Amino acid sequence: MTVDIDSRSGFCAGVIRAITKAEECLAKNSRLYSLGAIVHNDAELRRLEDKGMVVISDADLENMPDACDGQTRQHLLIRAHGAPPKTYETLHRKGLLIEDCTCPVVLKLQQDIRASWDEGEGKTQIIIFGKVGHAEVLGLLGQIDGKAPVIENLAALDAGVADGRIDLRKRTVIFSQTTKNPDEYAQVCGRLAERMSAAAGLSPEDFSKSGMLTVKNTICSQVATRHAKLAEFASDHDVIIFVAGKASSNGKVLCDLCRQHNPKTWHIESAEDIDQSWFRPSDKVGVCGATSTPKWLLEQVAQKILQLED
Ligand code: SF4
Repeated sequence: MTVDIDSRSGFCAGVIRAITKAEECLAKNSRLYSLGAIVHNDAELRRLEDKGMVVISDADLENMPDACDGQTRQHLLIRAHGAPPKTYETLHRKGLLIEDCTCPVVLKLQQDIRASWDEGEGKTQIIIFGKVGHAEVLGLLGQIDGKAPVIENLAALDAGVADGRIDLRKRTVIFSQTTKNPDEYAQVCGRLAERMSAAAGLSPEDFSKSGMLTVKNTICSQVATRHAKLAEFASDHDVIIFVAGKASSNGKVLCDLCRQHNPKTWHIESAEDIDQSWFRPSDKVGVCGATSTPKWLLEQVAQKILQLED
């Protein structure tokens, strides 16, 4: 049996930046609050919690007392997903020192959504292709007071049209959450263009020149490149061990992609989840993960698989 680790798997630049900032802050302070899990990976979270990081929810934040004189100011980290403006207002009210780790790619997407809304002066419809309730999506919605339907797939697009949340006759700008599947985004945009051109009574050619629909290419380039390469990696191995937290949105998308190209794909969270019955002695095994999977965990998993042969 041979075991290869996908060289492109591991933390993306946004997550590396957030973890580096967290470690720098924890080196100077005994405690750092993180609003939500800094990374969807239990092992990495435990490592940071041992250093003094405390993950809190929005409800925990609301329950904190407001700032008062003489109080020692605590540090709070905004993770790479970003946060809506009202969260920043709450943090200022509570007197917390903000360690803002919003990924620059997400920050630009937030600014672009706000600019499109302002330019459209309320007459342009914004649609977000993303996961309902995901932290990044909530941060995006917050830029425009929640005034955009969020659609997760083709079925949700059709449902949005049927229930009137999506108006096919309105000038529209569509954006994607940074970690969505590029192929699915292309399908959703294609269907939206088809339905809008039919509603306008225009041929596809005339519709594409009409400027009625603007598609913003906002999937993170690190994610888009990974998709193509990961598909090759999955096809090139007998068994794929995909390592990621089950709550990771990007992990789910990438694991599904591996499974499409290799049905012998197993999704695990740590080396303890490995089952010997998944492997044959002659197998070429590929170990890969999401943008939230640390390299050290991939190496630990590869080691554990190799030890099965001993
Ligand atoms: S996936 Fe891309 S956009 Fe998202 S945090 Fe990582 S680098 Fe930033």
